[in-house]
Amino acid sequence: MRAIVTCECCSHRQAVARAIRSPEAFHVVCHECEGVLRVEVTADDLSTAQKSVGRSRKARV
Ligand SMILES: [Zn+2]
Repeated sequence: MRAIVTCECCSHRQAVARAIRSPEAFHVVCHECEGVLRVEVTADDLSTAQKSVGRSRKARV
């Protein structure tokens, strides 16, 4: 699946440039504000196979 991540800081939406095939968590950098977003993909997300993850959080670095 392809995930769309919405930044909680600036609400910028961006596509995750990697294919997600199994539940995992990773970080992406917002292209707008350069904030680091933690993205969690659960088995549920994968089974519903939606394009949207909607679970991004601002991570502390
Ligand atoms: Zn942002």
